[in-house]
Amino acid sequence: MSVSAIDGYVIPYEELWGLSDCQKRKIRLCLARLKGTHTEDQWQNLIREFDFHCVWCGVDREPMTKDHILPIYQGGSDSISNIQPLCRRCNSRKGPYPADWAAYRRQFGFEVHP
Ligand SMILES: [Zn+2]
Repeated sequence: MSVSAIDGYVIPYEELWGLSDCQKRKIRLCLARLKGTHTEDQWQNLIREFDFHCVWCGVDREPMTKDHILPIYQGGSDSISNIQPLCRRCNSRKGPYPADWAAYRRQFGFEVHP
């Protein structure tokens, strides 16, 4: 399978057959990075913007993980606009539906909870 000439190219699912999960993840991340990337500085700024809180549950004093708002496997990019800080617990309970909690917190702050 070729991973060149990827502009706008979505790999048909059948072509992923036979690849290990690790290979699939690498390919998806590679595709996501072609749509956009972020730097460590941008990530640190994002964490600081939310004062080290998880944008979903609001917990702080925990290591934040990078969550792709639109998941990579659904065609999301790796740019900072598609990333939000979640605690490990929230990241693992996330379902298949994209939820932009960062945008929610920017609008409503941390006082209210959905
Ligand atoms: Zn959380």
